[in-house]
Amino acid sequence: MEHGKFPGRLLLQWHLSERCNLRCRHCYQDTYEINARGLEDWRRLLQHYTAFLKARSGMRGHINLTGGEPLALSEFPALMETLAGIPDTIPVGILSNGTLIDDRMARQLRDWRVHHVQVSLDGNRATHDAIRGSGAFDAAILGLRALKAARVKSVIAFTAQRSNWREFPDIAALGAKLGVSRVWADRLIPSGQAQRDDVMTPEETREFFALMAAARPPQRIRFFNKTQSEVAMHRALQFLMSGISTHNAIPYHCTAGNTLITVMPDGTLYPCRRLPIAVGNVYETPLEILYDCALFQRLRSKDWVSTGCEACLFRMVCRGGLRCLAYAMTGRIDAADPGCWLVEQNASAAPSTTTTASAATSAAAAASTPASATTPSAVIPPWFAS
Ligand code: SF4
Ligand code: SF4
Repeated sequence: MEHGKFPGRLLLQWHLSERCNLRCRHCYQDTYEINARGLEDWRRLLQHYTAFLKARSGMRGHINLTGGEPLALSEFPALMETLAGIPDTIPVGILSNGTLIDDRMARQLRDWRVHHVQVSLDGNRATHDAIRGSGAFDAAILGLRALKAARVKSVIAFTAQRSNWREFPDIAALGAKLGVSRVWADRLIPSGQAQRDDVMTPEETREFFALMAAARPPQRIRFFNKTQSEVAMHRALQFLMSGISTHNAIPYHCTAGNTLITVMPDGTLYPCRRLPIAVGNVYETPLEILYDCALFQRLRSKDWVSTGCEACLFRMVCRGGLRCLAYAMTGRIDAADPGCWLVEQNASAAPSTTTTASAATSAAAAASTPASATTPSAVIPPWFAS
């Protein structure tokens, strides 16, 4: 396969170990026992990753370090020193529960030049602590304040589920008050200890996205604006309820196996942590080979149409929504997003006319009406119909 067919960037989500100081109710992990491989193996993986990027005609890299909780690892500082020493510096983000970030750690993260630190906040104090453990909320807020004081960019990630989604506007407002760069949300994927009953229904999903749209500031905030917080709606199906031209949102499709790969603590490679289908081990098989495996090629296919999406106007740009949710709920990656309210509506509507990806994208870009919190009554979302 020609390298020209590959994307211009590749995000490596790197789970360093399963060690964690929390035991969240919706954690993807079944155990907390897999330890880090250690610095020597980590350096080997970094060499493979940077060589892979070079071999793919200058594909740009980006690494997100996570766990478990990455800051709970004694080996973490040594890895950060190694990363800071890579000549062609690759941006490094940290995905954390925020509870281990004090002023000293925040300054240390600044000195390591981390690109941003993402902290999970799943609702107001009572809700967050019910999900993540007593005291977790206050500790995460202290972490966010410390990052702000050290001038490290921060992001709040909200995992939406039936018990918390109505609290998103509070978290968006809190993010603005704390001066974080971005607040975003994606839906819970039932895995490990998470329960399928916690997954939102299609109607709740639509209401949630309308709530997100209403929680945004009226003007568009650029990514990582230094003074204002962005409420980002760049995840699956969110474009259906967001104002396209006002906030420059674009129809999103799953990037797993394309611009996103995930390495687990033992080296197992997944397309995404939320799509846990192992395709090999990066410590045993070169990334160059694993990246071209049959599953990743299938996930990268532009002709993908999920079952249940055949009649959808957005099938070529959305490509089935959250494939990980489809996989978790049905065992199939090619089933339509179980949270999509258009699937049932499309099934009962007259067959739609054929619409190409470019037509849907340009129509979306041309639309100018921002989303409102009102519920659309037809298959077509409000911004698209205007
Ligand atoms: S912080 Fe993350 S890794 Fe730790 S228990 Fe919670 S969800 Fe799991
Ligand atoms: S029906 Fe399928 S393609 Fe259309 S918006 Fe829903 S998940 Fe996406």
